[in-house]
Amino acid sequence: MTNLNKTVLAIHAHPDDTEIFCAGTLALLKDKCFKIVIATMTPGGMGGVTQKERETGETRKKEASLAAAVLEAEYYCLEQRDGYVFDNADARIKVTALIRKVKADIVFTHLPFDYHPDHRATSSIVEAGTILATLPNVPTDELPVKTTPLLYYTSPFGFTDNMGGKIPDPSFFIDVTSTFEKKKEMLSFHESQKQVMELMFKMDDFFGDMRDSDKKLGQMAGVKYAEAYWQNTGAGFLKEPLIQEILKDLRRDKK
Ligand SMILES: [Zn+2]
Repeated sequence: MTNLNKTVLAIHAHPDDTEIFCAGTLALLKDKCFKIVIATMTPGGMGGVTQKERETGETRKKEASLAAAVLEAEYYCLEQRDGYVFDNADARIKVTALIRKVKADIVFTHLPFDYHPDHRATSSIVEAGTILATLPNVPTDELPVKTTPLLYYTSPFGFTDNMGGKIPDPSFFIDVTSTFEKKKEMLSFHESQKQVMELMFKMDDFFGDMRDSDKKLGQMAGVKYAEAYWQNTGAGFLKEPLIQEILKDLRRDKK
Protein backbone atom coordinates (compact mmCIF):
# COMPACT_ATOMS: atom_id res chain seq x y z
CA MET A 1 0.00 0.00 0.00
CA THR A 2 1.33 3.42 -0.85
CA ASN A 3 1.05 6.40 1.55
CA LEU A 4 0.59 4.20 4.57
CA ASN A 5 -0.74 6.16 7.55
CA LYS A 6 0.37 3.39 9.93
CA THR A 7 -2.93 3.29 11.82
CA VAL A 8 -4.84 0.20 12.91
CA LEU A 9 -8.46 0.42 13.99
CA ALA A 10 -9.97 -2.49 15.93
CA ILE A 11 -13.77 -2.33 16.08
CA HIS A 12 -15.57 -4.97 18.10
CA ALA A 13 -19.02 -5.08 19.67
CA HIS A 14 -18.25 -4.80 23.38
CA PRO A 15 -15.61 -3.42 25.71
CA ASP A 16 -13.10 -6.28 26.33
CA ASP A 17 -13.60 -8.00 22.91
CA THR A 18 -10.61 -6.31 21.30
CA GLU A 19 -8.47 -7.13 24.33
CA ILE A 20 -9.46 -10.81 24.19
CA PHE A 21 -9.34 -11.37 20.42
CA CYS A 22 -6.46 -9.27 19.08
CA ALA A 23 -4.62 -7.24 21.74
CA GLY A 24 -1.48 -9.37 21.43
CA THR A 25 -1.19 -8.52 17.74
CA LEU A 26 -2.05 -4.85 18.37
CA ALA A 27 0.81 -4.69 20.88
CA LEU A 28 3.17 -6.15 18.25
CA LEU A 29 1.97 -3.62 15.67
CA LYS A 30 2.49 -0.81 18.18
CA ASP A 31 6.09 -1.99 18.53
CA LYS A 32 6.32 -1.61 14.72
CA CYS A 33 5.33 2.08 15.17
CA PHE A 34 1.66 1.70 14.25
CA LYS A 35 -0.86 3.96 15.95
CA ILE A 36 -3.57 1.86 17.59
CA VAL A 37 -7.23 2.90 17.81
CA ILE A 38 -9.79 0.76 19.64
CA ALA A 39 -13.55 1.18 19.19
CA THR A 40 -16.59 -0.63 20.51
CA MET A 41 -19.99 -0.57 18.82
CA THR A 42 -21.65 -0.52 22.26
CA PRO A 43 -20.73 0.64 25.77
CA GLY A 44 -21.62 -2.88 26.94
CA GLY A 45 -24.52 -1.70 29.12
CA MET A 46 -26.05 -5.15 29.55
CA GLY A 47 -22.86 -6.49 31.07
CA GLY A 48 -23.65 -5.36 34.59
CA VAL A 49 -24.78 -7.21 37.68
CA THR A 50 -25.08 -4.50 40.37
CA GLN A 51 -25.42 -1.44 38.08
CA LYS A 52 -28.20 -0.50 35.64
CA GLU A 53 -27.62 -0.34 31.87
CA ARG A 54 -26.50 3.30 31.61
CA GLU A 55 -24.24 3.17 34.67
CA THR A 56 -22.74 -0.12 33.50
CA GLY A 57 -22.02 1.42 30.09
CA GLU A 58 -20.24 4.38 31.70
CA THR A 59 -18.18 2.04 33.90
CA ARG A 60 -17.24 -0.15 30.97
CA LYS A 61 -16.21 2.78 28.75
CA LYS A 62 -13.84 3.90 31.52
CA GLU A 63 -12.46 0.36 31.76
CA ALA A 64 -11.99 0.26 27.97
CA SER A 65 -10.15 3.61 27.99
CA LEU A 66 -7.79 2.40 30.71
CA ALA A 67 -7.12 -0.83 28.80
CA ALA A 68 -6.51 1.12 25.57
CA ALA A 69 -4.04 3.38 27.39
CA VAL A 70 -1.73 0.37 27.86
CA LEU A 71 -1.08 0.61 24.10
CA GLU A 72 -1.33 4.43 24.15
CA ALA A 73 -4.38 3.82 22.00
CA GLU A 74 -7.35 6.13 21.46
CA TYR A 75 -10.70 4.64 22.47
CA TYR A 76 -14.10 5.40 20.88
CA CYS A 77 -17.59 4.09 21.57
CA LEU A 78 -20.08 4.18 18.69
CA GLU A 79 -23.01 4.10 21.16
CA GLN A 80 -25.18 1.33 19.75
CA ARG A 81 -27.21 -0.59 22.33
CA ASP A 82 -25.59 -3.64 23.86
CA GLY A 83 -27.51 -6.79 22.94
CA TYR A 84 -29.39 -4.98 20.18
CA VAL A 85 -26.76 -4.20 17.56
CA PHE A 86 -28.33 -4.07 14.11
CA ASP A 87 -26.83 -3.42 10.72
CA ASN A 88 -28.34 -0.13 9.61
CA ALA A 89 -27.33 3.07 7.78
CA ASP A 90 -26.59 5.05 10.96
CA ALA A 91 -24.25 2.39 12.33
CA ARG A 92 -22.44 2.00 8.97
CA ILE A 93 -21.97 5.77 8.66
CA LYS A 94 -20.54 5.95 12.19
CA VAL A 95 -17.97 3.31 11.26
CA THR A 96 -17.06 5.09 8.01
CA ALA A 97 -16.75 8.40 9.90
CA LEU A 98 -14.36 6.83 12.41
CA ILE A 99 -12.24 5.16 9.70
CA ARG A 100 -11.97 8.56 8.00
CA LYS A 101 -11.25 10.43 11.22
CA VAL A 102 -8.34 8.19 12.24
CA LYS A 103 -7.30 7.43 8.63
CA ALA A 104 -7.11 3.69 9.25
CA ASP A 105 -5.06 1.49 6.89
CA ILE A 106 -6.08 -1.70 8.65
CA VAL A 107 -9.40 -2.59 10.30
CA PHE A 108 -10.04 -5.53 12.61
CA THR A 109 -13.48 -6.86 13.48
CA HIS A 110 -15.39 -10.03 14.35
CA LEU A 111 -15.70 -12.96 11.94
CA PRO A 112 -19.07 -12.85 10.06
CA PHE A 113 -20.21 -16.14 11.63
CA ASP A 114 -19.05 -15.47 15.18
CA TYR A 115 -21.06 -17.01 18.06
CA HIS A 116 -22.55 -13.75 19.38
CA PRO A 117 -25.39 -11.97 17.51
CA ASP A 118 -23.91 -8.52 18.34
CA HIS A 119 -20.55 -9.70 16.97
CA ARG A 120 -22.13 -10.89 13.71
CA ALA A 121 -24.03 -7.60 13.26
CA THR A 122 -20.82 -5.67 14.03
CA SER A 123 -18.95 -7.70 11.42
CA SER A 124 -21.49 -6.78 8.78
CA ILE A 125 -21.60 -3.09 9.79
CA VAL A 126 -17.80 -2.82 9.81
CA GLU A 127 -17.44 -4.60 6.46
CA ALA A 128 -19.89 -2.14 4.89
CA GLY A 129 -18.45 0.88 6.70
CA THR A 130 -14.96 -0.06 5.48
CA ILE A 131 -15.92 -0.71 1.88
CA LEU A 132 -17.73 2.67 1.74
CA ALA A 133 -14.91 4.71 3.31
CA THR A 134 -13.45 5.98 0.02
CA LEU A 135 -16.78 7.07 -1.49
CA PRO A 136 -17.35 10.85 -1.42
CA ASN A 137 -21.15 10.59 -1.30
CA VAL A 138 -21.15 8.84 2.08
CA PRO A 139 -22.23 11.69 4.40
CA THR A 140 -19.64 12.31 7.13
CA ASP A 141 -17.82 15.44 8.32
CA GLU A 142 -14.49 13.78 7.58
CA LEU A 143 -12.96 13.51 4.13
CA PRO A 144 -12.97 10.08 2.42
CA VAL A 145 -9.85 7.97 2.82
CA LYS A 146 -7.79 7.47 -0.34
CA THR A 147 -7.57 3.68 -0.11
CA THR A 148 -10.04 1.12 1.22
CA PRO A 149 -8.53 -0.19 4.47
CA LEU A 150 -7.50 -3.84 4.63
CA LEU A 151 -10.06 -5.84 6.61
CA TYR A 152 -9.06 -8.62 8.98
CA TYR A 153 -11.37 -10.79 11.08
CA THR A 154 -10.54 -12.01 14.58
CA SER A 155 -11.26 -15.43 16.03
CA PRO A 156 -14.57 -16.27 17.72
CA PHE A 157 -14.29 -17.45 21.30
CA GLY A 158 -14.33 -21.26 21.30
CA PHE A 159 -13.22 -21.31 17.65
CA THR A 160 -16.65 -22.41 16.42
CA ASP A 161 -19.47 -20.78 14.47
CA ASN A 162 -22.70 -19.65 16.11
CA MET A 163 -24.08 -23.20 16.08
CA GLY A 164 -20.94 -24.69 17.63
CA GLY A 165 -19.86 -26.01 14.22
CA LYS A 166 -16.50 -26.05 12.46
CA ILE A 167 -15.15 -22.82 10.97
CA PRO A 168 -12.73 -22.45 8.02
CA ASP A 169 -9.00 -22.41 8.76
CA PRO A 170 -7.63 -18.93 9.47
CA SER A 171 -5.56 -17.11 6.83
CA PHE A 172 -2.72 -17.13 9.38
CA PHE A 173 -1.86 -17.04 13.08
CA ILE A 174 0.31 -14.54 14.94
CA ASP A 175 2.53 -15.79 17.74
CA VAL A 176 1.60 -13.50 20.66
CA THR A 177 3.66 -15.24 23.32
CA SER A 178 5.85 -12.15 23.77
CA THR A 179 2.89 -9.80 24.25
CA PHE A 180 0.58 -12.13 26.18
CA GLU A 181 1.33 -10.40 29.53
CA LYS A 182 0.41 -7.03 28.00
CA LYS A 183 -2.85 -8.54 26.77
CA LYS A 184 -3.52 -9.81 30.28
CA GLU A 185 -2.75 -6.38 31.71
CA MET A 186 -5.28 -4.80 29.33
CA LEU A 187 -7.96 -7.33 30.22
CA SER A 188 -7.34 -6.75 33.93
CA PHE A 189 -8.93 -3.29 33.61
CA HIS A 190 -12.29 -4.91 32.79
CA GLU A 191 -12.98 -5.50 36.45
CA SER A 192 -16.78 -5.34 36.01
CA GLN A 193 -16.76 -8.36 33.72
CA LYS A 194 -15.45 -10.86 36.21
CA GLN A 195 -18.86 -10.95 37.98
CA VAL A 196 -20.79 -11.14 34.69
CA MET A 197 -18.75 -14.03 33.34
CA GLU A 198 -19.38 -15.93 36.53
CA LEU A 199 -23.12 -15.31 36.27
CA MET A 200 -23.48 -16.02 32.53
CA PHE A 201 -20.99 -18.77 31.81
CA LYS A 202 -20.01 -20.01 35.29
CA MET A 203 -16.53 -18.77 34.41
CA ASP A 204 -14.56 -18.24 37.57
CA ASP A 205 -11.24 -17.46 35.95
CA PHE A 206 -11.52 -14.53 33.55
CA PHE A 207 -7.87 -14.67 32.48
CA GLY A 208 -7.82 -18.44 32.48
CA ASP A 209 -10.34 -18.69 29.70
CA MET A 210 -8.48 -16.22 27.52
CA ARG A 211 -5.25 -18.06 28.27
CA ASP A 212 -6.82 -21.42 27.37
CA SER A 213 -8.19 -19.97 24.14
CA ASP A 214 -4.85 -18.45 23.08
CA LYS A 215 -3.13 -21.68 24.10
CA LYS A 216 -5.51 -23.69 21.89
CA LEU A 217 -4.77 -21.35 18.97
CA GLY A 218 -1.09 -21.62 19.89
CA GLN A 219 -1.25 -25.40 19.62
CA MET A 220 -2.78 -25.08 16.16
CA ALA A 221 0.07 -22.76 15.16
CA GLY A 222 2.90 -24.61 16.94
CA VAL A 223 3.66 -21.83 19.47
CA LYS A 224 2.73 -21.14 23.12
CA TYR A 225 0.06 -18.46 22.58
CA ALA A 226 -1.46 -17.30 19.29
CA GLU A 227 -4.22 -15.19 17.80
CA ALA A 228 -5.93 -16.21 14.55
CA TYR A 229 -6.87 -13.99 11.60
CA TRP A 230 -8.87 -14.24 8.42
CA GLN A 231 -8.20 -11.55 5.79
CA ASN A 232 -11.13 -10.45 3.66
CA THR A 233 -9.81 -10.91 0.13
CA GLY A 234 -13.23 -10.58 -1.47
CA ALA A 235 -13.86 -8.45 -4.54
CA GLY A 236 -14.35 -5.21 -2.58
CA PHE A 237 -11.00 -5.34 -0.81
CA LEU A 238 -7.31 -5.08 -1.58
CA LYS A 239 -5.54 -8.37 -1.10
CA GLU A 240 -2.19 -7.08 0.10
CA PRO A 241 -0.96 -9.28 2.99
CA LEU A 242 0.19 -6.28 5.03
CA ILE A 243 0.07 -7.66 8.58
CA GLN A 244 1.52 -10.95 7.36
CA GLU A 245 4.50 -9.01 5.98
CA ILE A 246 4.95 -6.59 8.88
CA LEU A 247 4.87 -9.42 11.42
CA LYS A 248 6.43 -12.05 9.16
CA ASP A 249 8.77 -13.35 11.89
CA LEU A 250 5.76 -14.15 14.10
CA ARG A 251 3.34 -15.26 11.39
CA ARG A 252 2.46 -18.94 11.52
CA ASP A 253 0.32 -21.28 9.45
CA LYS A 254 -1.82 -24.10 10.76
CA LYS A 255 0.24 -27.14 11.73
ZN1 LIG B 1 -18.47 -9.24 22.70
